[in-house]
Amino acid sequence: MRTLLFLVFCSSGLAQAGESAYDRVVRTALERAQSELEDSVDIDVAEVDWANAYEQTVGRFTVRTVRSPAFARRLAQRQDAMFPRYQTLIEPGFEPGNMVVWVLPSIDDYNEFGNRYGAEHSSMHGSFLTNEIPGTNFEPIVTYHPGSETQLDMWITHGAVHQFLERRPRGDPDLWLSEGLASYFELNWNLDYGKQALQNYYRRGRTVPTFSLLRQGIGEYQAQPESLFQIGMLFSYLLNHREDTRTVIDENGKVVRQPFVDYLQGLLQGRDVSASPVNSLLGQNLVTLDNDFQRFVMGNG
Ligand SMILES: [Zn+2]
Repeated sequence: MRTLLFLVFCSSGLAQAGESAYDRVVRTALERAQSELEDSVDIDVAEVDWANAYEQTVGRFTVRTVRSPAFARRLAQRQDAMFPRYQTLIEPGFEPGNMVVWVLPSIDDYNEFGNRYGAEHSSMHGSFLTNEIPGTNFEPIVTYHPGSETQLDMWITHGAVHQFLERRPRGDPDLWLSEGLASYFELNWNLDYGKQALQNYYRRGRTVPTFSLLRQGIGEYQAQPESLFQIGMLFSYLLNHREDTRTVIDENGKVVRQPFVDYLQGLLQGRDVSASPVNSLLGQNLVTLDNDFQRFVMGNG
């Protein structure tokens, strides 16, 4: 349940407070990667009020928005296309049921909703889960349109991964694992953007040692929202790039080895992972890992 609280906690209250830490993080990162995040223009916007909002379902996803049916359909299609990536890694074959996404009309609506239905909240992330809405039997992933559709895809995926994890029979894993997976798949929409953002955080001294990153609580994520990008990119590095942890596939598409995937799946299934080489890496050799990771992010490794 910590993750659920985290998402609520990370959701709102920013309109009054001016630019929040998370806003600043996102704005700076977006400015640096703007060309890659350029959006197609919605030509058929016909806004209605929330009571008459458009709802479209594609596969597992139902998206509700006041913007247009085409917009709702696009978002649902893209989320359903992203879904198999995290299903395959987290729990192959597990079906979480219908995933409902509410794209509230404005940031004010979003904050108001978060204040009403969230136990705790802040402005750190643009989506949250709730199961506290009276009169409904589902838990929507709640968000708003920040202007960039890619950013919106990212926020929805972050919430959807948390929801997928939470609905599994085993439920939420440890916080670092949950945030690592949610942030990694969020960044799957644009890993170059994640890398550029993280380069900027290194230059400004806004990263934390991996030792702390793997142990920090919700409060630290709130105080330093850059941590979400950092842990998401760390997962990308370990899954796809680092020689002794990455997944290796041969020319016939067969998996040769996948140490970090095995480690993650072991943890997610509650298996003993103490014999895994990744367990030693994350348990003992963190200075080496920090240096290697920084070299990778800064482009020399
Ligand atoms: Zn999260």
